[in-house]
Amino acid sequence: MIKHNFSAGPSVLPKSVMKQASEAVLNFDDGLSILEISHRSKSFVEVMDKARSLALELLGLEGKGYKALFLQGGASTQFLMVALNLLEKRAGYLNSGTWADKAIKEARIYDDIYEVASSKSANYNYIPKGYEIPEDYDYFHCTSNNTIFGTQMKNFPKSPVPMVCDMSSDIFTRQIDYSQFDLIYAGAQKNMGPAGTTLVVVKEDILGKVSRKIPSMMDYKLHISKGSMFNTPPVFAVYVSMLTMQWLKDLGGIKAIEKENEKKSSLIYSEIDLNPLFKGFAAKEDRSNVNATFTLENENLKETFETMLVEAGISNVNGHRSVGGYRASMYNALTLDSVKALVEVMSELESKA
Ligand code: PMP
Repeated sequence: MIKHNFSAGPSVLPKSVMKQASEAVLNFDDGLSILEISHRSKSFVEVMDKARSLALELLGLEGKGYKALFLQGGASTQFLMVALNLLEKRAGYLNSGTWADKAIKEARIYDDIYEVASSKSANYNYIPKGYEIPEDYDYFHCTSNNTIFGTQMKNFPKSPVPMVCDMSSDIFTRQIDYSQFDLIYAGAQKNMGPAGTTLVVVKEDILGKVSRKIPSMMDYKLHISKGSMFNTPPVFAVYVSMLTMQWLKDLGGIKAIEKENEKKSSLIYSEIDLNPLFKGFAAKEDRSNVNATFTLENENLKETFETMLVEAGISNVNGHRSVGGYRASMYNALTLDSVKALVEVMSELESKA
């Protein structure tokens, strides 16, 4: 039986959230299931409003000119939506991973994109630094955490132009000044809820500046004017995201979860560094607190290690095919006990070898 789910996403959710969500499937409001109520019903409009305000509250962005939206199409749709809404002449992108590369490819459909820096030739094992962002660009785009490679931006540049950030894998996991960003987006399925909705937090005053016509479903301004209800929203995904954000708030918010996340990541990285059987993939100073990537140095031990993982109830630690090895994804809902279980198996392997 699986007890420790290290999946990169969709991933582990808090047990209490799952319980509330399953109860709502049977009876959410006056005998009706959350799956069958109208999105225009008073009870769901309240859920949507609460989800939008919780997102801003947790990020410390209330009353600062930002709006939160729960859209569909995954973070991948944001790759083109960002360009459609913000790109007039030229934009700068930091190419720090496969998802950043895909964002660049989508934006290039519309206009001229400049890579301010790239770590592609090193298979993205570090975060590029020391680049310039020209003042006449429409915006600068970066990826705060590279899920596949296990690298994370620890500092963000002082951008002279609006800064857009794909935070799909580390939103709500650490305390940073979120107001340095003008647009943040994140798929729900790692730290916020089930797959099916994408959080977009945007500073309203950066919108409405491009000359192109924007199709309705791609238009942030239109979604804002309709309270994120321009069309039928993904009701269940928004509901479970709201519950997860409430869970985080009740725990003490990002400040409290960050401490837990630091304990989890220091535990796994110290094992990776001390155990001669394993080697970290990412450059040390850029190591991600949420996705730890590592390889097993002795291929002959692979089968033994993987059998031990199964026996310990640990699942989904296989690395992405472009990196190989292993990846432990340690999102907000993954407990310290799960990381302890994994580290125990790693050190037991060393004693067996
Ligand atoms: N950006 C990052 C950093 C991701 O990790 C992912 C998915 N793993 C995506 C974008 C793509 O997200 P989606 O599948 O929701 O389109």
